[in-house]
Amino acid sequence: MRKVVFIGWRGMVGSVLMERMLAEKDFSGFEPVFATTSQIGQAGPDIGMDTPPLKDAFDLEMLKTMDIIVTCQGSDYTKKMYPLLRKSGWKGFWLDAASALRMENSSVIILDPVNRTVIDQALAKGKKDFIGGNCTVSLMLMGVSALFRKGYIEWLTSMTYQAASGAGAKNMRELVSQMDMIGRASEEFLKDPESDIADLDQRVLETMNHRNFPIQNFGAPLAGSLIPWIDSPMENGQTREEWKGAAETNKILQTRTMIPVDGICVRIGAMRCHSQALTIKLTKDIPVDEIMGLISESNEWVKVIPNTKEDTLKYLSPANVTGTLGIPVGRIRKLNLGKEYLTLFTVGDQLLWGAAEPIRRMLTILLEHLSS
Ligand code: NAP
Repeated sequence: MRKVVFIGWRGMVGSVLMERMLAEKDFSGFEPVFATTSQIGQAGPDIGMDTPPLKDAFDLEMLKTMDIIVTCQGSDYTKKMYPLLRKSGWKGFWLDAASALRMENSSVIILDPVNRTVIDQALAKGKKDFIGGNCTVSLMLMGVSALFRKGYIEWLTSMTYQAASGAGAKNMRELVSQMDMIGRASEEFLKDPESDIADLDQRVLETMNHRNFPIQNFGAPLAGSLIPWIDSPMENGQTREEWKGAAETNKILQTRTMIPVDGICVRIGAMRCHSQALTIKLTKDIPVDEIMGLISESNEWVKVIPNTKEDTLKYLSPANVTGTLGIPVGRIRKLNLGKEYLTLFTVGDQLLWGAAEPIRRMLTILLEHLSS
């Protein structure tokens, strides 16, 4: 039986992966092994069957016995263990949520509802490294890949509204702590509906800018505010998150000529859903109805939301999408800039399609490939 080791299974991405695998009854037909960088010998996750105590994720000899290594542990782990394994002659499949190997020639960025052909070709060529994409890029492509495929996109700009979870578990906690502190500081004004709104506003502002306001992880208030900077700076003025837009989109789709993708990535006070407003320069004047049809038929998770206030409020929000695999795409219309300028808004759970789900599905594809 094929052996698959899971590393990083108790982190944010890994635990969502475990949840999804359990929900889809994926733990069958292979021998699962669980490893850790810090809890060797302890019990692994409850997957409804006995599994051995946690192995040491740094044990090269153990890793070398695996057919597939699934890691959601992070880039530091990948950078440390991947080269050692390949140098040792290990020929197994490496399936990774971290970004470290994404742009390597030997790697394929996986998002099978969008690039299954690219994945199948890579498997046929004997490629072994399959890496999950950046969450914002994956969610954008789940929404509009049909337009790329048709050659309808000349360029695209994405203005993002990204959730705290993209920065990690500590940041999610910090966001809620910030909300809590603002709520408690404002209580006396909230209890009294007759109180002056200017006083409430002033109290919120003072709280956000107080030296005790928890900003250790974000570096700035997020609750009641936003942060228009995600990841590290690039020399050209982009942030690395913004740079990934073009680099990863074109790699996922294996475009022949680079399609420009750029924009500003902004952290907002959502918990785990990323949203983005896209402006698309179409290659020609394509009717909005045709665009809606293409989008809604592109995969089973995308849903076109009518451009009405009622539907937008009901369906096109993190509050509605969180915890689901749904990818609503709404506010679709031509901009007043001209008939070739399209705008739309899309939302997706960044821990599902943005992280764990492409990994879960790729594991199934690899197991099928190994048994064929
Ligand atoms: P994470 O939550 O920080 O977990 C990483 C590891 O931290 C765990 O596997 C665990 O390893 C250790 N850990 C220490 N204390 C823990 C605790 N109290 N609870 C759970 N785990 C604890 O990392 P992540 O956000 O899942 O990200 C993993 C990788 O996926 C990163 O490379 C990230 O860039 C990438 N990614 C993340 C997202 C996202 O939205 N977060 C999206 C796409 C890709 P041990 O069991 O070995 O101690």
